[in-house]
Amino acid sequence: RRKLVLNEDDYVEGVARGDRMTLSRAITLIESNSSKHFKLAQRVLQRLLPRTGNALRIGITGVPGAGKSTMIEAFGNMLCDAGHRVAVLTVDPTSSVTKGSILGDKTRMGTLSRRPEAFIRPSPAGGTLGGVARKSRETMLLCEAAGYDVIIIETVGVGQSETTVRSMVDFFLLVVLTGAGDELQGIKKGIMELADAIVINKADGDNLIKAKVARGQYERMIEFIRPATPGWETHAYLASAIEKTGLAELWEVIRIFRDKTTETGIWKKRRDGQLLDWMNSMIDEHLHNLFFDDAIVRGRMPEVKEAILSGGISPTQAVAELLSVFDVRQAAG
Ligand code: GDP
Repeated sequence: RRKLVLNEDDYVEGVARGDRMTLSRAITLIESNSSKHFKLAQRVLQRLLPRTGNALRIGITGVPGAGKSTMIEAFGNMLCDAGHRVAVLTVDPTSSVTKGSILGDKTRMGTLSRRPEAFIRPSPAGGTLGGVARKSRETMLLCEAAGYDVIIIETVGVGQSETTVRSMVDFFLLVVLTGAGDELQGIKKGIMELADAIVINKADGDNLIKAKVARGQYERMIEFIRPATPGWETHAYLASAIEKTGLAELWEVIRIFRDKTTETGIWKKRRDGQLLDWMNSMIDEHLHNLFFDDAIVRGRMPEVKEAILSGGISPTQAVAELLSVFDVRQAAG
């Protein structure tokens, strides 16, 4: 019989046991915007923290239609067959109850979602990228505590969301399509700089030859790009999510990546850096909110803006003035 209300121990024990229903409810708690839920969620997370950190965290990005969900499903099924437990999360700051999301409400990854070894959770709805990122990071930790040893985090390139996902994962994969010229131009160089591997998907049928050409083009572009991970050479690979080719090779690449970066210490260094960056970005967001929500600051804001626009004071002076009336201790309550 399911309990209607779970207490802290129920959450901790249920997640640690790998109970999917409790895991789902714990994630809902993490995603809640109520401060009561927030506090409970943080206590649960704190107790589960010793069980986290053991999964391989993989980020996947690519334009809509590149075949990310088809690939994640095929890849995830392959890993589950090999005895892994796979959690798939999405980071999509455009997602909201009313607006719908780019990653879609379409029933995705049907065969994977039905497997007991897999757990699929869509992006928390709405909110700032910072808020979505915090929730996704904590969701990732809960999944690790529940025993998932491969976490796949999918994102569509919306604003800074690729950078955000890169900052949560060990290995970052860019999924692209074939097509010389135009489409290649469309890939932002900045995104290629984040990638530990580039997979040219849909390398099947009539498209195979074009895919091989594209692979060569990407390989040449990569030569001019600083590697995403020190000591690791990013390469372009061919795959077909539909024919399920190239996926075992991709897994092999990821395993070699893990072994190699573990050996050189880069793996641990990245994880440590990510934790501190996470703290810093939460401080940024928190202070930003305290400042802009502060009653005194809000009261002064209109006249200060006007003074800037009329040339009465410089923005720098305006900031100094607003900061002088802002009492951070009082704002933090
Ligand atoms: P996403 O938007 O990146 O998640 O892309 P989807 O996984 O939804 O795939 C978009 C379309 O491409 C769908 O119609 C898929 O069936 C198709 N597709 C995905 N992977 C492959 C592939 O490897 N080969 C071919 N031929 N089609 C594919």
